[in-house]
Amino acid sequence: MLNTDNPEIQFAVHAVRQACSLVKQVQAEMVSPALTKDDRSPVTVADFAAQALVGYLLDENFPDDPMVGEEDSTVLQGSEERLTLERITGFVSGYAADASPERVCQWIDRGSAETAPRFWTLDPIDGTKGFLRGDQYAVALALIEEGQVQVGVLGCPNLDSIALVAAARGQGAWAGSLDGTLDLGRLSVSRCADPPQARLLRSFESGHTNVSQVDHFAEALGVQAQPIRMDSQAKYALLAAGQGEIYLRLLSPQRRGYREKIWDQAAGSLVIEEAGGRVTDLDGNALDFTRGRTLADNRGICATNGYLHQAALEALRDIRA
Ligand code: AMP
Ligand code: MG
Repeated sequence: MLNTDNPEIQFAVHAVRQACSLVKQVQAEMVSPALTKDDRSPVTVADFAAQALVGYLLDENFPDDPMVGEEDSTVLQGSEERLTLERITGFVSGYAADASPERVCQWIDRGSAETAPRFWTLDPIDGTKGFLRGDQYAVALALIEEGQVQVGVLGCPNLDSIALVAAARGQGAWAGSLDGTLDLGRLSVSRCADPPQARLLRSFESGHTNVSQVDHFAEALGVQAQPIRMDSQAKYALLAAGQGEIYLRLLSPQRRGYREKIWDQAAGSLVIEEAGGRVTDLDGNALDFTRGRTLADNRGICATNGYLHQAALEALRDIRA
């Protein structure tokens, strides 16, 4: 059972719920069909506001814990962004009564801490392109102690039945609604062990991965099932819930130097493992969360339901050979 009396679990679930409520509000008020393609203001406002809110909640609950978050307030400090900062402050003040532009920047910058023996890591909005399309995105928060993810919570407001997914090491992965009661049901991965039937979870955006390598992988494994295309760590929630079998992260050929950020993987990796699946690098080794803000030595991630892990690693070896 998930120990919902545990203060860290309680905090993580509450913070993700609050952040989701805030970003849903921003999506409802600011994302519209009239938005021009390069207008990223809704995601800017939502991203910063959500990180500020979690920084504020962390101050209230665990003031001594560091946070490693995706955003920092530098761009908001310039005079040309004053209106954006005021807009962000307006949204945050619905959740933190004493919000001011200065405090909002301080709460955001809680996320600039160094990693430590114990720290939190936050992606205030993962899948920004999905968010702007009014599609899938995720809020991801994890607690890392001594390099091990201990608590991981994903909020995926547009994934109806699994909008909130919470996992704690040794306590399973659980899903429920974003509002109110902890009506969590236990998640477990699919038991599919047959490669042709494996449903691949794939990025919606081609720039975030190596599309042709994923195609070769599917061919090498003999996959026949239709893939599922979706933005963000919502893919981890789906895999944990048994609604897909394999999710790869491979380096995009345009950005070989890209390294995975810990906030993009920490919560999701625990959720998968606690639902019975496996998450490793492309050689089958555990992800290393002791290397700072990125998975520094990592060149790709293989997440599966476990039953297909060995076959997936072998297919990866074949296509990389
Ligand atoms: P997805 O929604 O699965 O396509 O991936 C979204 C995630 O990809 C975000 O968390 C980004 O931080 C991350 N990302 C951004 N650029 C790249 C890149 N060049 N290669 C891999 N991942 C990226
Ligand atoms: Mg992200």
